[in-house]
Amino acid sequence: MSNNKKVNHLGIMGGTFDPIHYGHLVAAEMARSKFNLSKVLFIPTGIPPHKNRRDISAGELRFEMVERAIQDNPAFACSSLEIERQGPSYTVETLRVLSRAWPEHELYFITGTDALREIFSWREAEEILTLIEFIGAARPGFDASDFLEHVQEEHPDIIGKIHYLEVPALAISSTDIRFRVRHRQPIRYLLPESVRLFIQEHNLYT
Ligand code: NAP
Repeated sequence: MSNNKKVNHLGIMGGTFDPIHYGHLVAAEMARSKFNLSKVLFIPTGIPPHKNRRDISAGELRFEMVERAIQDNPAFACSSLEIERQGPSYTVETLRVLSRAWPEHELYFITGTDALREIFSWREAEEILTLIEFIGAARPGFDASDFLEHVQEEHPDIIGKIHYLEVPALAISSTDIRFRVRHRQPIRYLLPESVRLFIQEHNLYT
């Protein structure tokens, strides 16, 4: 944790959310409770720096799915900050905006462990590491030891800022949901019904 700890904690849930599913929602709720987050702000990525734009659904559609999914949780909110920004969505730019907007809050960035493993290749990784605490939401069976050893050896100053959360519900994945839709397999109970209907209405992933 940072030395001058702030009392208020804000969660920032970064992801493509194509589509959002119960694994993401459970991860956000577990993080909220464990790290005493007053709010969790979901931020769907605009154009992820590491992905081809054609691979992903339009930002407005992903944003609307997130809005539908979180509507019954007063501690959850969604921001269109990244999907409205031109060019690739660099996390460092988002975090700068948020740390100015929420100066009294310690920021906790929550994302999947696969993405977190790549953190040192992200733009201005060192700046990012000064701005936030990281929460890696891990799928069942994920082994963090290699990554933590690497951090301990190469970046010992930030090891205390990296936290892991094992989330059994992350057995659900967006990739699998897209596959299921494409192959006409059921997706009910993997994600909120409002999101399932949205996918159907907009003919996504077919
Ligand atoms: P991704 O490659 O789509 O996802 C990597 C893995 O993590 C997938 O298994 C994914 O599962 C899971 N995942 C993603 N977000 C999650 C979340 N919030 N909670 C739990 N699991 C999650 O990663 P991404 O979504 O593009 O990127 C994740 C975050 O890292 C985004 O905020 C992105 O902007 C940031 N990022 C920044 C940079 C940079 O600044 N250079 C580079 C890469 C990523 P599902 O498919 O089921 O979601």
